[in-house]
Amino acid sequence: MFALTNQVAIITGGANGIGRAIAKTVIEAGATAVITDIDEADGKAAAEELGAEFEVLDVRSKASCQQAVKAVQDRHQSIDILCSNAGIFPQAALDTMSEEDWEEMIGINLRGAFFMTQAVLPGMRERGYGRIVLTSSITGPITGFPGWAHYGASKAGQLGFMRSAALECASDGITINAVMPGNVLTEGLEKQGDDYLRQMAASIPTKKLCEPQDIAHAVCFLASPEARYITGQTLIVDGGQVLPESLEALE
Ligand code: NAD
Repeated sequence: MFALTNQVAIITGGANGIGRAIAKTVIEAGATAVITDIDEADGKAAAEELGAEFEVLDVRSKASCQQAVKAVQDRHQSIDILCSNAGIFPQAALDTMSEEDWEEMIGINLRGAFFMTQAVLPGMRERGYGRIVLTSSITGPITGFPGWAHYGASKAGQLGFMRSAALECASDGITINAVMPGNVLTEGLEKQGDDYLRQMAASIPTKKLCEPQDIAHAVCFLASPEARYITGQTLIVDGGQVLPESLEALE
């Protein structure tokens, strides 16, 4: 595994699921992990269990993102790694999707990534080093799923944001990349119900849902010093889910 010795990593949405696994993995790699989340109770519990730090934040608010980043910088001087991972995925059919449904999805998944990236940039630029890893998705950039038009837009939007941001950061030693998970068994995905989980597992060539640590290991690589020459890129971690052209291809 790639070492992150003495580095400081801030993880949004780190109280549960993928973010929590990222926190665990970067700690194992030698970093100090700062879990940030809107859910204070879960965030504190996860931090205590993993030996991480915790800052409450709401990625919908620029002020909240700036405040959390400042608190971490005051304690540690610098932030080496941002894992911009907080996200939601409630379904809404296109015909009845409200403006609020749309705004909430874009506000957390896309604007949140922008606010957090902007908050960590000055410190990273000053030091000439930084690793930013976004948790995007296969849904939107590659695939679609009924009920997730707004989700897909937010996740594809993250990649558009990333590519131009990567160009603006490259000469300062800062990389920005994205992982694109398939279906990961997390607290969030469990809310989709048993039928969804069964159907999804059947459509994945490996016949298993992804586990949060599968995403965390990919994030850890992109967050490592060794990934210095990779920027503006995506890494799909989906057990081959996007490969089959038809159900027959799976047999
Ligand atoms: P999860 O629901 O298990 O955890 C998400 C965390 O984000 C929660 O702890 C939640 O409190 C936090 N959060 C929500 N709104 C927030 C806000 N406004 N500010 C700060 N924190 C907030 O979800 P997960 O499955 O671990 O998903 C994590 C990321 O991975 C999301 O961006 C999601 O879109 C992406 N993703 C998940 C899957 C999957 O199958 N689980 C697949 C592809 C992409």
